[in-house]
Amino acid sequence: MSDTEHLQENPSPDADEPSSELAGGTLMIDLRAIQANYRYLAGRVGQTECGAAVKADAYGLGMIPVSQALWAAGCRTFFVALPCEGAKLRQTLPEATIYLLGGLLPGSAGYLAQHNLQPILSSIEEIGEWAQFCRDQDRRLPAGIHVDTGINRLGLTSAQVECLAASHKDLGAFRITLIISHLACADTPNAPMNREQLATFDRLRAMLPHARASIANSAGTLNVPDFHYDLVRPGIALYGGKPLADRANPMKQVVSLYGTVLSVREVKAGESVGYSATWRSERNAQIAIISVGYADGFFRCLSGSSRSERAHIFIGGQFAPVVGRVSMDMITVDVTDVPPDFARRGGRAELIGPHITIDDLARWAETIPYEVLTALGPRYCRLYSPYDQRQDRGSRQDL
Ligand SMILES: *Cc1c(COP(=O)(O)O)cnc(C)c1O
Repeated sequence: MSDTEHLQENPSPDADEPSSELAGGTLMIDLRAIQANYRYLAGRVGQTECGAAVKADAYGLGMIPVSQALWAAGCRTFFVALPCEGAKLRQTLPEATIYLLGGLLPGSAGYLAQHNLQPILSSIEEIGEWAQFCRDQDRRLPAGIHVDTGINRLGLTSAQVECLAASHKDLGAFRITLIISHLACADTPNAPMNREQLATFDRLRAMLPHARASIANSAGTLNVPDFHYDLVRPGIALYGGKPLADRANPMKQVVSLYGTVLSVREVKAGESVGYSATWRSERNAQIAIISVGYADGFFRCLSGSSRSERAHIFIGGQFAPVVGRVSMDMITVDVTDVPPDFARRGGRAELIGPHITIDDLARWAETIPYEVLTALGPRYCRLYSPYDQRQDRGSRQDL
């Protein structure tokens, strides 16, 4: 396979990760494309620093290799959700700024201090606990603050910000390095709620001590500069997902996934294929059985049925529809129109790649590319392209 020759095995594989001949599917992650996406986004925001969301194992793609590639491309600020993710990243990037989007888990302050992780404090209780820890240690440790501007998820309410501002007691105990909020409708740039959230953000920030500000995810990063503030924190766009609902995807595709044909069988007109006999062939058909199933993140709802748009794979220069139910370890595909040189035992089928994007799969499954990526299973052979090691200067402005 000439297109995989330049790829390297996962640099930090689990002990039991299979090689490509022994795995049902081969997942290729193009670290250079992630770097190109980072540079594109950093270029879009000018003087604003461009960070990266690498939570959930960098959206399933491997937090360590992805973060190393991002660091080399100039990224200095990383966002994860949880303390365990932050501590793992800290081992690889000793100098990075690492924020925890999930805030301060009860009792975790000592662990965060030990690993030099900054919680983004999102409630009065969290602020109280962090402030108390700082007083006990006699250190003004750094942390972010999350204010809610309308998504009603994490973050201090307006009333809580007012309260907090009135009594400066806890805020003085630590160093506020960042104030963030999160947009509810960022993927729809013209949604009126975006501007309303900006206005609320500015009003709340004015009540707090001055600190750098950040509100933009990927979609916000591609929106007008009003949304950029001091730091943007894209995730999905780095990994090739489509950030804006109503525009073409400007990002480079990062992931490709190939499955292996286990066998091909003939199914006569009128016969069914798969569990519950949900699909019946209208013609004498050739059906390929391919070695990836819902346990690998090929969602069961991609089963070939009456959905408006059916899932396809790409094999032998053709799109071929998934027919019948998706099983745990395999799918069945109508390859009647595919040349038999390709639709044969051991043949390779593109499930994600140049012809099928993660946005296509997401649309077929009626979900979002985030879920497609984070669902990619543990059984694949993972191959990483080498990344560009030339260190960029870093996009960080001095704090
Ligand atoms: C995950 C996350 C991001 C990144 O979002 P994308 O839509 O993937 O760019 C940014 N901010 C917060 C608070 C997040 O949880």
